[in-house]
Amino acid sequence: MAEPGAKVAPPKPAGPPREITVTEGVTVRELSEKMEIKTNDVLKKLLMRGVVTTVNRPLDLEVARQIALEFNHAITVVSYEESEVIEERKAGSSQKLPRSPVVTVMGHVDHGKTSLLDAIRETRVVDLEHGGITQHIGAYSVAFKNRTITFLDTPGHEAFTLMRARGARVTDVVILVVAADDGVMPQTIEAIDHARAAGVPIVVAINKIDKPEANVDRVKKQLADRDLLVEDWGGQVVCVLLSAKQKQGISDLLEMILLVADMQDLRADPSIPASGTVLEARLDRSRGPVATVLVRDGTLRISDAFIAGAVSGKVRAMFDDAGEKIEVAGPSAAVEVLGLQGVPQAGDIFKVLAEEWKARQIGAFRQQKIREDSLQRTSRMTLNQLFEKIQEGTIRELPLVLKADVQGSLEALNQMLGDLPTEKIKLRVIRSSTGAISESDVLLATTTNAIVIGFNVRPERKAAELAEKENVDIRLHTVVYDVTSEIRAAMVGLLEPTIKEVFVGRAEVRDTFSVPKFGIVAGCMVTEGRMTRNAQVRLLRDNVVVYSGRAASLRRFKDDVNEVKSGFECGIGLEKYNDVKPGDIIEAYKTEKVANKELSA
Ligand code: GDP
Ligand code: MG
Repeated sequence: MAEPGAKVAPPKPAGPPREITVTEGVTVRELSEKMEIKTNDVLKKLLMRGVVTTVNRPLDLEVARQIALEFNHAITVVSYEESEVIEERKAGSSQKLPRSPVVTVMGHVDHGKTSLLDAIRETRVVDLEHGGITQHIGAYSVAFKNRTITFLDTPGHEAFTLMRARGARVTDVVILVVAADDGVMPQTIEAIDHARAAGVPIVVAINKIDKPEANVDRVKKQLADRDLLVEDWGGQVVCVLLSAKQKQGISDLLEMILLVADMQDLRADPSIPASGTVLEARLDRSRGPVATVLVRDGTLRISDAFIAGAVSGKVRAMFDDAGEKIEVAGPSAAVEVLGLQGVPQAGDIFKVLAEEWKARQIGAFRQQKIREDSLQRTSRMTLNQLFEKIQEGTIRELPLVLKADVQGSLEALNQMLGDLPTEKIKLRVIRSSTGAISESDVLLATTTNAIVIGFNVRPERKAAELAEKENVDIRLHTVVYDVTSEIRAAMVGLLEPTIKEVFVGRAEVRDTFSVPKFGIVAGCMVTEGRMTRNAQVRLLRDNVVVYSGRAASLRRFKDDVNEVKSGFECGIGLEKYNDVKPGDIIEAYKTEKVANKELSA
């Protein structure tokens, strides 16, 4: 035994470290067993690092990694779901039986996705004995020719991409709805891209063929231009002609779905514990957290313990899409599940575990991680902290997302930013494009810790909300010089108190009229907040600032007023500006000075 304070050379690792795989939330006991080392020895090592714990507590992964290294083990961490897959692979092949296909409907807005889903659902409602009350649970199943097809009835590309972004491939077949009178449109193309990227086969459904303007051949030609060759054009893609409105072609479509699905030979093993994907989840006032789960493999039963993303639970009750209580749900079934400890997210992986305590352990571990991640979020970069971070030496580069009204402004901005001194910090423009600040710009900023600079543009509503939530610093300017001088000041810690803008109200221009002696007055509807006379305003056209100045006149009917509240109409005359157009947005705001925290501290 070493004397306290005596210098002990760290034991020389004997050979290369032994590789072991551990699961997230690994406990001291599990780690010890993997390394084949006594738990007491591991606890001792932990204690020497000041970590007091017990054998059944999950370990922080970094600590686990370091401890393992001290025992000459290199650990690879896998998620619980991954470890299950590894185990299953070890266990060898299971008895896979054919399963029903799961289908998503995609296509351009107004081409008839909802109508089609309704029409298909109705064919089933007629078949149902208990009289046709269907619940909306995010998916439903249809019996057809002694088989079943499950439809996800949250149409929309966002849901699809979201699921895919989270690694869940939930769909076996995509139905691409194209209106015969309208043809291939931007979201049609987007849908094709999504389906292709996910490697999911497409069944084309040309809808609205009842319309006199319907032109099926034109649609087929447009699809061919996108390398989607339908069968009678010599290609492989199955195509069905439909009228969702008149309920024509529905059974042809169902038949084709089965045909395309059969080519994939979809299989699952109903004898194993269930795994699947969360399609929807919400907090129900009387029932608590409720999730719709699409079972991908295995069978889900009452009392099964499970993990859904970071939420653990035990199945208390299950309901099908007709609202009927059920006891078991097999592969490709969508069921509403009660008994969750919290509300998971759509796209989360759902997995049944043999032991309830293990489910709770993983849930607790993941919740912890989420808390840590959100702490990190609040430490996101702002321009006010730049100087401090440079001093600390924790930052060498400042990523920027540049958005401007026109290409010319972008060029000017890029050039002036390029002229800034770089010894303290290097500016790195990671996106430079024209148009309003979008959600995608803010998302990019969150992942890269960038600051967003808007030049003569504004954030879209959703982008502003996201930025607020994620603490992304958005700087808005209308003079190029202001952009660079602000960054220069931030670099040396001399950032002036920030001028903070306070939103006052928003009005939509509905009409314009000319008033003698005054000029053009905009007939507006105040949609949010209020409008005040002489307020600072800016005029937005497609989120681009086309004017900033003052509301020189404000009237209700013929009277001058000082203020008009949301929900009321008014006439607004802009100071020295007559080029206002219907559809424009007038935004009123106030400015306030906010002391720079770092300077006042
Ligand atoms: P979605 O935006 O893709 O969900 O489209 P909807 O299902 O909401 O349909 C948009 C509009 O097209 C609605 O007014 C429907 O009544 C109409 N519509 C849908 N299918 C048909 C069809 O087969 N024939 C005709 N004439 N109209 C249809
Ligand atoms: Mg719809």
